[in-house]
Amino acid sequence: MDTGDGLLLFDAGNCGAEAMLIHSIWEMGFRPQDVKWIILSHGHVDHFGAAPFFRKMFGTKIYLGQPDAEMFRTAPEQSMIQESSSCIDMLFEADHEIEEGEILTFGNTSIQFYLVPGHTRGCISCFFNVTDGISIKRAGYYGGFGFNTLQKDFLLEIGDIKLEARKVYLNSIDKVISQKVDIFMGNHASNVDLLKKGSICSNIPEKIPSWIQKAGEITWNKKSRNF
Ligand SMILES: [Zn+2]
Repeated sequence: MDTGDGLLLFDAGNCGAEAMLIHSIWEMGFRPQDVKWIILSHGHVDHFGAAPFFRKMFGTKIYLGQPDAEMFRTAPEQSMIQESSSCIDMLFEADHEIEEGEILTFGNTSIQFYLVPGHTRGCISCFFNVTDGISIKRAGYYGGFGFNTLQKDFLLEIGDIKLEARKVYLNSIDKVISQKVDIFMGNHASNVDLLKKGSICSNIPEKIPSWIQKAGEITWNKKSRNF
């Protein structure tokens, strides 16, 4: 997102995504060195992969939910970093640990943050306005989708013997479900059929982007609660 005072990137790809991310930013007509902030939806390796590289190269500031910053310090294996052998030693301290309800300003954009624990304890969701120069739309980014960490075996392994994380996950969805948004983004492309929608938009450019829609997809996710 171009904030008028630097670029803001939501998540930073998987471990090893540096070149792909830089190429994608160039392809969109921006400069990677202008990425001033990276907001991580949560502390799993498939979301923070290229973040340390951006900080080292461009001085990018990394933002992460406080509970996941704590998880890096106390239970680093829950970041899944051990599953990416090439970046096993790259865990980092965030520049800013996001707290519940915090509102932060990046250039011309203010973002309202909520903690939505469940998938990890420090998943965040954020809400902000965007504009195409004609109208203003409200965008919402739900950073906590993913049932893999709610599976019984996983929860028992990390000591959640009552499977509390599942309740926490559903409570998190309830917390933000009434937010009115025009643009809904999930933290995995598959959550919102993003690639399919992207190809529809590029094939029919005059069509209103189909990811601009009334919130509805989050309801779908709530329904698919068959753990
Ligand atoms: Zn994850």
